[in-house]
Amino acid sequence: MAAVQMSGIFKRYGDTQVVHGIDLSIDDGEFVVLVGPSGCGKSTLMRMVAGLEEISGGELTIGGKRANGLSPQQRNVSMVFQSYALYPHLSVFENIAFGPRIRKEPATRFKPRIEAAAKMLNLSGYLDRLPRALSGGQRQRVAMGRAVVREPELFLFDEPLSNLDAKLRVQMRTEIKALHQRLKNTVIYVTHDQIEAMTMADRIVVMNAGRIEQIGRPLELYDRPANLFVASFLGSPSMNFVEGEWQRDAQGARLLLADGGSIALPQTNVSAAPGAKITLGVRPEHIETRASEGVVMEVEVIEPTGAETHVYGKIGGSTWCATTRQRASIEPGQRVTLRLPAEHVHLFDTGNGQRLG
Ligand code: ADP
Repeated sequence: MAAVQMSGIFKRYGDTQVVHGIDLSIDDGEFVVLVGPSGCGKSTLMRMVAGLEEISGGELTIGGKRANGLSPQQRNVSMVFQSYALYPHLSVFENIAFGPRIRKEPATRFKPRIEAAAKMLNLSGYLDRLPRALSGGQRQRVAMGRAVVREPELFLFDEPLSNLDAKLRVQMRTEIKALHQRLKNTVIYVTHDQIEAMTMADRIVVMNAGRIEQIGRPLELYDRPANLFVASFLGSPSMNFVEGEWQRDAQGARLLLADGGSIALPQTNVSAAPGAKITLGVRPEHIETRASEGVVMEVEVIEPTGAETHVYGKIGGSTWCATTRQRASIEPGQRVTLRLPAEHVHLFDTGNGQRLG
C-alpha cells in the first residue's frame, strides 16, 4: 500500500514543457483517475510515476519515500498499458506467472493467486493457450492478471480498456472497480473517457494542456465544475452553454443573448457588472421540457435512446440538448418551453472561464 505525493512536478522534452507543475496528493488505497483530452500530459505524468520517464523537476514520493531517482523495479508499481506486451511463446499461465517466477517465488505460493486472478478475469479456461489464440480483450485481461499477481503497492493503468469493444469495456470497468474494492490498493488510472472517470474514480483529476483544471469526487465535479473546461468535459451529452450579457432590471437579473432573446437568471448571490460577458450552462437532464414558462426552443432533432429521449434545438445560436425520460410526443418543428431549474444553472465568466459564485 502506498500514498503518492507529487509536488511541482514538471516535464520538459528539449525546449518544450508538456507538464507544468503538478501538485497532487493521493491517499493510500485511493482510486484516482487522471482524465483529459488526448495530448494533455496524462501518460507523461503516469510514466514519471512509474519511473519510465525522467522527472524534469519537482518531487515525487511513493509510500513516503522520495522516488525521483528510483528505477521502475525499486518503486514496486505494476503498470497495465493499452498495448499488452505478452510473451508470444508463453502460455497464459506462464505470462501471468512471469513476475513471480523472476522473483523465484515457489509455485505453491503464486499458483493460487494466478488461479484467483484468472477466475476473476474470466481466463480460467484459457490458461494453457498461447496469446495468439486469444482475442484482443482476452489478451488485455492477461496483462491485467500479470499486474494483479505481482500484488504491487501501486497500480498504474494507462488507458487499459481502449482496445476493447464497448460491452467488454463496461464489464471490465466494473471488474477493475470490484478488484480495487477487494485489494484496496492505490490506483492511478489514466483515461480520456469521462464515463470511465466518473464511474470508477474515488477522485478525478481533470487535466488540460499539462495542468490540473480541477480535483474532486466525481459528483462534486459534475455538480460544481470550477470552470468551463471541466463543465464541458464531464457529462454526455455534454452541458449546454449559451453566452450573453449580464443585465439587471426591476424583475431581476437576465442574460441578454446575441439573437436578441434573453434568459431570466435565478436569484442567487452571483452578481456581475451590467454588460459583463457571462456563459450560462445547464445539463440536458436538468432541463424541464414541458414547462409553462421559460426559454422557448424550436425542436430540430429528436433522438430516442430507449431509456430517454434527447431533444435538440437552438438557444441564442448554440445547439442545446434537453433529455427527458418521458416518451414525449415531441416532433421536429414544434416549439417547446424549457425551464432551467435555478439550482442547476451554472454561470461562468466567459473571459476566463471561471465559475461565478
Ligand atoms: P496524453 O496521455 O494526455 O494523451 P501525453 O502525455 O502522451 O498525453 O503527451 C503530452 C504531450 O507531450 C503531447 O503534446 C505529446 O506530443 C508530448 N510528448 C509525449 N512524449 C514525447 C516525447 N518523447 N518527446 C516530445 N514530446 C512528447
